[in-house]
Amino acid sequence: MANTSDIIIIGGGIAGTATGYYLAKAGLQVALFDKGFLCSGSTGRCIGGVRQQFTSESSIKLMMRSVELFAGMDEELGTEVHWHPGGYLFLAHDEQKKQAFLDNIRIQQAAGLKDVRWVDAAEAREIVPLLDTAGLLGGSYCPTDGQAYPFAVVNGYAQMIRKLGGRVHAFSEVGGIISAGGAATGIRLASGEEHHAPVVVNCAGPWAAEVGALAGIEVPVEAERHEALITEGVEYLGIPMLVDYRADGGYFQQFRHNGQFIGCYSPSPRVPGHSAGSTFEFLTDMPRRMLKLVPALAEVKVVRQWAGSYEVTPDGNPVLDRTELAGFYVLGGMCGHGFMLGPAMGQAMAAFVRSGAKEPPYPEFALRRQFGRAEAMK
Ligand SMILES: Cc1cc2nc3c(=O)[nH]c(=O)nc-3n(C[C@H](O)[C@H](O)[C@H](O)COP(=O)(O)OP(=O)(O)OC[C@H]3O[C@@H](n4cnc5c(N)ncnc54)[C@H](O)[C@@H]3O)c2cc1C
Repeated sequence: MANTSDIIIIGGGIAGTATGYYLAKAGLQVALFDKGFLCSGSTGRCIGGVRQQFTSESSIKLMMRSVELFAGMDEELGTEVHWHPGGYLFLAHDEQKKQAFLDNIRIQQAAGLKDVRWVDAAEAREIVPLLDTAGLLGGSYCPTDGQAYPFAVVNGYAQMIRKLGGRVHAFSEVGGIISAGGAATGIRLASGEEHHAPVVVNCAGPWAAEVGALAGIEVPVEAERHEALITEGVEYLGIPMLVDYRADGGYFQQFRHNGQFIGCYSPSPRVPGHSAGSTFEFLTDMPRRMLKLVPALAEVKVVRQWAGSYEVTPDGNPVLDRTELAGFYVLGGMCGHGFMLGPAMGQAMAAFVRSGAKEPPYPEFALRRQFGRAEAMK
């Protein structure tokens, strides 16, 4: 039957396309649906940062795996994804932050991330000669963290799904989950068209809760607006992703492949909901925050701003699990880290689905866990 496959995936961002690719690669027939164009959700709105500096062993190891996957992706997907290990430098301007980073570095190194290290202000200046080090105590630096281009990665995965015999349906909103005898058997599009498969994976990013609700399943993921901007392209200056957690700080990096600076900051107070509206406040504030760290960027022009959603869980960790409805899985809630986690999490999700296991591979990412300890490097 034309509308029957082995796996249905809802969502054409990094989570859906990575999961779909690894399942298709294993010989399964995949049908992927997105209500908009591929990358129309959070993935196309993110700033492309990829880091291994986390504080739980699972996240660190998954990110080390993701970095390996990004490094081999051009060859694996047959397309240029602009992976560049340009590093991440987390900045500490007070003793408390310094101590927290030193503690995190110990956890990261114990988990196998040998490249991460503390650098004092002088070494930070050697790594980033344009950095304003006034008040800087030092930072947590990992040179094997990096960047990739989200649109290229998602398109690469989607092309491979098609090449391996799967189907990718854009502008196809899923409006219902079909089930029989306590098990998922397919989906119904908003248009009324039905597609059937014994496995349906919810990779709907900030809409994971809404898609779960289509099957009466509660998924604890909430959307939260985050804004971003990008500049014109200039000569590559070799600046790693700079992360400044101060109240008036932010995160930004320069894309190696086109010289554009791209950055964002976490709003305070939080802005819950699906709004993707941009503000004048962000447009004027973000460049000031960038200039505070790298004054030499004063002449670089901002060319575009936008907003998208983080997909937030109560503890800042993702969800990778089956649900109470047999055959209905969820991968999401990656809390602003989904692009970087996507390749390794997609691979893990594909292996979990194929195994048919009852228990998820990472108990701390279980759907019905106790939401306790929070990820500190948000
Ligand atoms: C400003 C900003 C900066 C960020 N920076 C980074 C970063 O540097 N590094 C990083 O790792 N992460 C970053 N993130 C987070 C990252 O973008 C997300 O964690 C990640 O993209 C989530 O991927 P996803 O595939 O789960 O969701 P999405 O990319 O949102 O994909 C979900 C898809 O599901 C589709 N969908 C929803 N409902 C339906 C339905 N009913 N039917 C069919 N399709 C449906 C949507 O259209 C969407 O395309 C950033 C996010 C923002 C907003």
